[in-house]
Amino acid sequence: MEHLMQPSIPVVEELGQRCWRLVNHGFSMNTGLVVGTERAAVIDTGSGPREAAGLYRAIRGITDLPLLVINTHAHGDHVFGNAYFAARGVEDFYASAEATEHLRVHGHAERELVRFLEPEMALGQGEFTNLVVPQEIVSGAGITIDLGNLSVEAFGLGPGHTPGDLLVRRGRVLFTGDLVEQGGPPNFEDADPYRWAELLGRLEQECAEDDMVVPGHGNVVDRDFICRQHREMRAAIACGQGFVDSWPSGSFDATADQLGQLPYGAEQSAIFLQRLRQGMP
Ligand SMILES: [Zn+2]
Repeated sequence: MEHLMQPSIPVVEELGQRCWRLVNHGFSMNTGLVVGTERAAVIDTGSGPREAAGLYRAIRGITDLPLLVINTHAHGDHVFGNAYFAARGVEDFYASAEATEHLRVHGHAERELVRFLEPEMALGQGEFTNLVVPQEIVSGAGITIDLGNLSVEAFGLGPGHTPGDLLVRRGRVLFTGDLVEQGGPPNFEDADPYRWAELLGRLEQECAEDDMVVPGHGNVVDRDFICRQHREMRAAIACGQGFVDSWPSGSFDATADQLGQLPYGAEQSAIFLQRLRQGMP
């Protein structure tokens, strides 16, 4: 029952150029908002109906215009609010083909991620807990979406954090989803570290020095931050390759010392090494 469910109210920050960042409490995930004169784009919808209800309320304090949704990728903390927005009349949901496929095949497995934040979503019980898979596929060179008087570009740069991450640009503001992470290590669960590092190189080219980069989680950063994340990942790959090469075939035998030499903390460093081995050329 919706009236029993406590909405989780995000922190709202205006970025200029008709862009806002709404910080969800659970994972400090950044929802983006870009407002034109005819429509507004919502970038990622939160971890479930609680966060989505809070987002919707905050967004309606900014604009009454019809909304569309762009999902940067298919991880639960970015897409599980879709059903709430659909119930509020949103019809156009955009994502990459890879993200829609992930949501279709692994969407239910993603629910585990939000068990403490969004118990209804985790159990798939109650209103607005169904999985809404985007129908508007963003492929190839990306698309330009006209919001009235201004537009956003949604585009991919190849596999990285997941097989199909989208970025969204409006002027000097760039929403990157989890391709960029501030305040915590990058998440390698579904990542190809080799391709991600290459992608960060392309992202450096894509960015201007004065761009505002809104990461998937954490505070707004800039191109220098992306350069550092890129360099750090390249160094971690070089280091990690040596570790993986030293293991007997078929075994995963990272030592605490090896994990400690990587920059991502023990848990993500272990996942990083596994993903590195799976993706080794
Ligand atoms: Zn993610």
